[in-house]
Amino acid sequence: MYDKWLADRTHWFDASGIRKVFDLAAKLENPVNLSIGQPDFDAPEIAREAAVEAISSRKNGYTPTQGAAPLRTLVQKQVDEQYGEGVREAFITSGTSGGLLLTLMTLVNPGDEVIIFDPFFVMYDALVRMLGAKPVYVSTYPDFHIDVNKVEAAITDKTKLIIMNSPANPTGTIASEAVCRDIAELADRKQVALVSDEIYKFFCYDGEFTSPAKFSKNVIVLDGYSKCYGMPGWRLGFAHGPHEIIQQMLKFQQYTFVCAPSALQFGAIAALDTDMKPYLDAYRRKRDLVYDGLKDYYDIVKSEGAFYSFPKAPTASASEFVNRAILERQLLIIPGNVFSACDTHFRISFAASDETIVKGVEILVDMAKNG
Ligand code: PMP
Repeated sequence: MYDKWLADRTHWFDASGIRKVFDLAAKLENPVNLSIGQPDFDAPEIAREAAVEAISSRKNGYTPTQGAAPLRTLVQKQVDEQYGEGVREAFITSGTSGGLLLTLMTLVNPGDEVIIFDPFFVMYDALVRMLGAKPVYVSTYPDFHIDVNKVEAAITDKTKLIIMNSPANPTGTIASEAVCRDIAELADRKQVALVSDEIYKFFCYDGEFTSPAKFSKNVIVLDGYSKCYGMPGWRLGFAHGPHEIIQQMLKFQQYTFVCAPSALQFGAIAALDTDMKPYLDAYRRKRDLVYDGLKDYYDIVKSEGAFYSFPKAPTASASEFVNRAILERQLLIIPGNVFSACDTHFRISFAASDETIVKGVEILVDMAKNG
C-alpha cells in the first residue's frame, strides 16, 4: 500500500551504494576505518563552551532566517573584505548541505541539466535528481582535474548550472587559479550559473586556495564550518552570492529550515577566532602517510586538499576489491562507484588517527602484493 503513497521523486535517486558499505561495516567488530567523511578532531573548546553558554543564557529561540545577527555580520564582513563591499550578500545556512538544497531549489527546474564532475560528492547527484533535473557528468579521470574545454562541450540549451567542488571530495584535487578563471568566464559567457562548494578550502596542503568567485560576481559560493572546525553535527554553513539569488534562497530557507540552530551559531562565533593551523599540518602529514605508503603499489594521484585520496583498485572491479578489503581484512573504504559512473577506484579518508592510517596502508599494500 505504501508504494502508492510514495511521490515519484522517491524513485529518482537512491542511496543504496553507501548503505551497502554501512551494512557490511556493521558486521565488523573492530574495523580499520578509513571511510569517515568528517575530521577526527573535535570542535574547539572555546566554541563548545560558547554554545553551552548560549543555551544557558536562553538563546534558544529562532534566529532571523538569514542567521543570528552577530554571526551573519561577521561572515558578511569576511566576504566584503575578500570581494569588496556590496558585491556579495551572505547568510547562514543549515550546513553546506542546506545551502546546496536551497541553491538547487532556487535555480533548477525539472528537465534542466546540471553539470557535475565525475567523480562527484554523492549529494550533488541525488539532489539534482530529486528536483527532477538531469545530472550531466563531466569526467575528470584520470588526474581528476577539471578540463574547462570538456565543460564547454557539455553545455547545451538545457544547462542551468555547473557545480564545482575544490578541494574535492572524493579525489582531493584542487582547481588551479587558471581553471577557476576559465570556468567562471565560461559560465558568464554561456549565462549558466556556477556554484562553488568550498567546504574543504581550509584543507589545502601545497598552495593557496582560489575561488572562482574571484573572477565573477555571479558565482554562488557554499561553505560551512563542519570540516574546518570539527563540528559537522552542528549543521552550520553559509552561502554568498548575488543579492537577487540570495533573496530567493532565503525565501526557501524561511519555509524549510527556518534558521540554522540558534545556540550553535553563537558557539561558532567563538570558533572563528581559533587557530586551526596545527590541524592543517597534521592532515598534511596524514596525506603524506597515505600517498608515500601507496604510491609504489597503486595508481594514485597525490591529494592536494580535503582529506581524501582516490586510488585505482588493482583489480578490474573496485567494488569487488572493496568488498574483499572489508570482509577479509576489516578495512573500511568506499568503492568509487558510490561517487562515480566508474567502478575502478576507491576512496580513502585520512581523517583518522596516524595509527589507523598506517594500519590501513599496510593492509592495502599487502592486498596489492598478495591479492
Ligand atoms: N560538500 C561536500 C563536498 C562534502 O563532502 C560535504 C560533507 N561530506 C558537504 C558538502 C556537506 O557538509 P555540511 O556538513 O556542511 O552539510
